[in-house]
Amino acid sequence: MRTRSAIVCMDGDDHLETITVRDLQTGEEQAEKTSHVFVFIGAQPLTTWLDGQVARDDRGFVLAGPDLLHGGSRPPGWTPPRDPWPLETSVPGVFAAGDVRAASVKRVASAVGEGALAVTLIHQYLERL
Ligand SMILES: Cc1cc2nc3c(=O)[nH]c(=O)nc-3n(C[C@H](O)[C@H](O)[C@H](O)COP(=O)(O)OP(=O)(O)OC[C@H]3O[C@@H](n4cnc5c(N)ncnc54)[C@H](O)[C@@H]3O)c2cc1C
Repeated sequence: MRTRSAIVCMDGDDHLETITVRDLQTGEEQAEKTSHVFVFIGAQPLTTWLDGQVARDDRGFVLAGPDLLHGGSRPPGWTPPRDPWPLETSVPGVFAAGDVRAASVKRVASAVGEGALAVTLIHQYLERL
């Protein structure tokens, strides 16, 4: 297990033979023999455009539902006389579903399910306006 590391080079003739792993803290690079790599990219949230609008955790994932309550207190600026519903963000009536939500499962099936639930909750929210 290499934490804070990145593959910076992949070498081989007709198939992968060697990868170079860089330690992102020290900059030290080390070659490792391997013939297989599982590419797991694309898991970072692109949510900086929500700055100052929707509460996020320190990694940029959108906080929703019970994750917004700190010591039982509702998020700053929250006006409805109720706690945020599941999937509801710090902006009442705005819901987050799928990978972008903090503490979500990060799987296709759960993202689809959360999307369906969010639609139901939006209808519920609009009916109560
Ligand atoms: C490498 C990898 C392998 C995976 N393998 C599996 C697996 O085997 N099984 C499994 O169940 N799950 C797997 N997952 C997880 C799965 O892909 C996600 O859980 C799922 O795609 C989440 O769906 P989503 O709709 O929440 O987000 P996404 O699929 O990420 O969709 C979000 C979309 O929003 C777009 N977007 C972002 N910002 C903006 C913006 N400002 N304006 C407009 N559009 C924007 C993005 O381009 C993207 O198209 C894998 C993920 C990765 C990265």
